[in-house]
Amino acid sequence: MTKHNNTTKPGGNGESIRTGMSEEAIRLAFLDNLFYVQGRFLEVASLDDKYKALAYTVRDRLLHRWVSTIRTYQQANPRTVCYLSAEYLPGPFMGLNLLNMGIEEPTRKALQSLGIDLESLIAYEQEPGLGNGGLGRLAACFMDSLATLQIPATSYGIRYEFGIFQQDIRNGEQVETTDNWLHYGNPWEVRRPQISYDVKIGGHTEHYTNEQGLHRVRWVPHETFRGVAIDTPILGHDVNTVNLMRLWRAEAAEALDFHAFNEGDYYGAVLREVRSETISKVLYPNDAPEIGKRLRLLQQHFFVTCSLQDMMRVHRTTGMPIERFHEKFTVQLNDTHPAIAVAELMRLLLDNHHLDWDTAWHVTRHTFAYTNHTLLPEALEKWPIPLFQSLLPRHLEIIYEINSRFLDEVRQRYPFDPDRAQRLSIIDETLPRHVRMAHLACIGSFAINGVAELHSQLLKETVLRDFYELWPEKFQNKTNGVTPRRFMLLSNPGLGSLLNETLGHGWETDLEQLRGLEAHADDPAFQERWRQVKRQRKEALAGEVHKLCGIDITPTSLYDVQVKRIHEYKRQHLNLLHIITLYNRIKRNPALDIVPRTFIFGGKSAPGYAMAKLIIRLINAVAEMVNRDRDVAGRLKVVFLPNFSVKLGQWVYPAADISQQISTAGKEASGTGNMKFSMNGALTIGTLDGANVEIREDVGAENFFLFGLDADAVSHTLANGYRPWDYYNANQELKDVIDLIASGFFAHGDRSLFQPLVDHLLQHDSYLLLADYADYIACQDQVSAAYRDPQRWTRMSILNVARIGKFSSDRTIAEYCRDIWKVQPVPVKLD
Ligand SMILES: *Cc1c(COP(=O)(O)O)cnc(C)c1O
Repeated sequence: MTKHNNTTKPGGNGESIRTGMSEEAIRLAFLDNLFYVQGRFLEVASLDDKYKALAYTVRDRLLHRWVSTIRTYQQANPRTVCYLSAEYLPGPFMGLNLLNMGIEEPTRKALQSLGIDLESLIAYEQEPGLGNGGLGRLAACFMDSLATLQIPATSYGIRYEFGIFQQDIRNGEQVETTDNWLHYGNPWEVRRPQISYDVKIGGHTEHYTNEQGLHRVRWVPHETFRGVAIDTPILGHDVNTVNLMRLWRAEAAEALDFHAFNEGDYYGAVLREVRSETISKVLYPNDAPEIGKRLRLLQQHFFVTCSLQDMMRVHRTTGMPIERFHEKFTVQLNDTHPAIAVAELMRLLLDNHHLDWDTAWHVTRHTFAYTNHTLLPEALEKWPIPLFQSLLPRHLEIIYEINSRFLDEVRQRYPFDPDRAQRLSIIDETLPRHVRMAHLACIGSFAINGVAELHSQLLKETVLRDFYELWPEKFQNKTNGVTPRRFMLLSNPGLGSLLNETLGHGWETDLEQLRGLEAHADDPAFQERWRQVKRQRKEALAGEVHKLCGIDITPTSLYDVQVKRIHEYKRQHLNLLHIITLYNRIKRNPALDIVPRTFIFGGKSAPGYAMAKLIIRLINAVAEMVNRDRDVAGRLKVVFLPNFSVKLGQWVYPAADISQQISTAGKEASGTGNMKFSMNGALTIGTLDGANVEIREDVGAENFFLFGLDADAVSHTLANGYRPWDYYNANQELKDVIDLIASGFFAHGDRSLFQPLVDHLLQHDSYLLLADYADYIACQDQVSAAYRDPQRWTRMSILNVARIGKFSSDRTIAEYCRDIWKVQPVPVKLD
């Protein structure tokens, strides 16, 4: 009773404490949740209790907006975006929800009045690591922008029980431990046990003729389990729109297998339940040459079928006929991970709704759009036919039928080019035969897009060239973006305040307004404040570095940062070649006057990717030698931040002076880290790769440190017998660096430890480090020269922020809405 009374008790000015936005309402709500949800009073509450009490306080207010959103959507029956992604990296929720709801200040004060520091609760939150890196983070930025732009949208995925592994560094090596993010519970999610769907696997199909003489197919699965919805509300900025992230958790079809139970097989029944749950148990790390395949394909099918069945349930409530499914929903495939959806939607339409093939195919081809994220051939998904057959026999039949009809079309189009049908086929006929998921996605989608201009262009010229020639009208570009709410306002409050003061509010949701900064780029007083903001973030990061690594770094040094997944194409080892070059220069000439630098690395390697793990070892080995060498003290420092994540990124991006975006040209589809750095006033040293090209175009070539071969030169160099030895022999500094690594200098004299890395560089160097080395070093020397001139540097920094507007994910999403999804905003009024 007390609870109910409290709920409606006015919180100061007649507000309900469940929904009120005043300091008083929030304070009462916090105490109420602490007492009635956590069962604690203030004096004995732990940090976890306080965090949860605040999270529930925020969640109540989210749910209020969510209900209003659902009501609005029910009345308007709007066209809806469904984003299918196997990964989401949303980052911690508390800070962003407070910010988007506009109650950061009253909340801070309410807690202060109780002797609690809001920052400590925000810092306590563990983030859901349901993604590997850029692709999952992109999906999260898109959710933020969809809600902010008031677009009806649901993001579907998998609620992994264990997300991306936690990375420890022990003796300089990456050690993986499980990410038990649900251990203390997750206050942001709402379980929906009544929203659940059957998921079939294995078995066989039966073809028969029904009473009306129509051909029908029945899939008799080997096993059935269930997917249960778990929802997380996603609030837009300064609006009432709350969209859902709906993730699926696998459960046994029935809590216990009663048949087995009746036979006395109690343990067998329980074990089956445990086995079902393994489907959503763990996220697969990517970037590995090979991964455990069976479970991965099961995961894809699992979340895709639950999501499509969920859309069909919603569609039924609209009263529209199933033939118009594609008018209600537009479904974006985030890479090929959900591409099985093409066959699954066909199956549901044919076998459950009994549509004829042509109608079902019409609906399917007007439902999906596909985003490609990679040009690396080893990353294009394909599944061995026997595996596919054993798990998804009905889907394989449907894929064969789609393929056969498609290839008829191809042969008719190109009667004198039999190879073309082979190249376009969904089935890779080279033994062992495989299903090519990118081909299924292209054939089943009405739009195909890359994620930066260069990437979209290369797609048309290389991996998807035949599809482009067939259907040029399907191809588009949608250059990625990131949300300025999380990556500017939330992680860089000092910058946020300075921008508000200078430009007024509005830039947060209309990033082009940052152009107004150009007028201040040469104003000495403004420049000084700009430097103070950066200095303050550098000090804050120094504090974190000390906490995490026990290393002291100097905020007056140039922070030179590379944080991203560790991969040979991203070339963290090229960065190392530069560090060792500087080290050698100082050792040769101890009086050398150089700009003091702190090199900061962070990023995870796929557990099975030996070369990436060796690069991590070399970074830590170089750090060990450099950091304890008194000859270079005060001039060089190297830090490897363990367990890079969104949360850690929020400390890192705003503190950087230089952002390293140095991938081999043509390999990085877009990159989004590059945008986060630039938005926070870091200057970029980078190649003409991915979105770097467009960032440089917008911020101006004179405000960007460009080096290296472009994508064309890279392919020519590799095609014309590239000889890394020639570069080694021709450049004394390069030779010294490689020789030093090979000598065992960084491995306590052990010449074998880094030999695989040295051998690869000298013999193959497939990512052209040696070819780009000299230009990279010269460019880094220019960076140092520019940094010696604070006025010049600050001007460049201001202009980077002023001209970065295009890279807001709001712009990206507006383009998807206009060119692909054809959806309109549906504003939500609060009930
Ligand atoms: C932005 C982001 C990435 C992507 O970084 P790139 O530099 O584009 O590879 C990866 N991981 C996290 C945690 C991020 O926030």
